[in-house]
Amino acid sequence: MSNYYEVLGVSRDAGAEEIKKAYRKKARQLHPDVAGPGHEEEFKEVSTAYEVLSDPDKRQVYDLGGEDALRGGGFGGGFAGADFGDLGGIFQSFFGGAAGGRGPASRARRGQDALVAVEVELADVAFGATRTVPVDTYVTCTTCGGSCCAPGTDPVTCSQCNGQGSIQRMTRTLLGQVMTSSPCPGCQGYGTVIVTPCKDCSGEGRTHRRQELEVSIPAGVSTGTRIRMSGRGEAGPAGGPNGDLYLEIHEKPHDFLEREGDDLYTELRVPMTAAALGATFPLQTLDGERQVTVRPGSQPNDEVVLDGLGVGRLRRKGRGDLHVSIVVETPTRLDDRQRQLLKELAALRGEDDVAPAKDEGVMGKLKERFSGR
Ligand SMILES: [Zn+2]
Ligand SMILES: [Zn+2]
Repeated sequence: MSNYYEVLGVSRDAGAEEIKKAYRKKARQLHPDVAGPGHEEEFKEVSTAYEVLSDPDKRQVYDLGGEDALRGGGFGGGFAGADFGDLGGIFQSFFGGAAGGRGPASRARRGQDALVAVEVELADVAFGATRTVPVDTYVTCTTCGGSCCAPGTDPVTCSQCNGQGSIQRMTRTLLGQVMTSSPCPGCQGYGTVIVTPCKDCSGEGRTHRRQELEVSIPAGVSTGTRIRMSGRGEAGPAGGPNGDLYLEIHEKPHDFLEREGDDLYTELRVPMTAAALGATFPLQTLDGERQVTVRPGSQPNDEVVLDGLGVGRLRRKGRGDLHVSIVVETPTRLDDRQRQLLKELAALRGEDDVAPAKDEGVMGKLKERFSGR
């Protein structure tokens, strides 16, 4: 958007009267009778500039921070016609109005979008799932089918506006007398009046109801993912189209599987002897029991990767992997024979000259370390 002072063709220190005159001149030049059709945007720009510069508070904000400050600040930006006071009326009389245009308004409006949280298990996001979700929503009234009228009746033409939906009147503005139109108070702009509203929906054309919706959850979604279901939101008033339904995924934590992206992580606890000798262990996965081979000489935190046993990739083929971290368990309660065997093993491996594990405290351990053992 251009500089507001340039738009009106005034200097930065122009006074209120000068700004008003400049606006009046520009606006007249842009009138369809003078300039021909197709100058709505220019007129909006000129009007926005005038709206800001004619208001001392807005003008000060604009002078300090420029137009960005104004647009971010919530005023000046939205030229909607209706909330523009005097200028909105002029705009309407010039260009037919931004809101509603000509003719009566329709009662039917689009329903609201709805957001529903869905709790899902890890298996659901890994494989994808179909779930039934209760949704409190609006549905089209079955009695009147959205017409809002009691069965057998129809809306009647409004006598105040003869079905036009709007009332025209002359208004004095700073541009002189202009014809402005406003919604008819007799029919709220609809052009018709519902004499006997449907009892079941109180003339709204829709009723509030809990619905069980079957929804499909694609593999690979995660907490915070929103799935849009087009046209599954609230039914609109008076037979208007449905809004959209958004499912927001909340993933429940799993007992022993942790997820990171498409990969899963878990631990496998194996005895010290199995880590040394190698062995095969059963492991519970999302795909049922699988065998994990621990190779001889496995160290703590060694990882075994089971390909393709992770979470399904969102909108892509394939699955992540399952990473199994080996936790080596040192035996804690040794009986005499076991202790003897371990001692023999230590002797065989030349590991028996290690200083006995007396409680030497931290200093003793440090000394041991620095003695170059
Ligand atoms: Zn109804
Ligand atoms: Zn009316």
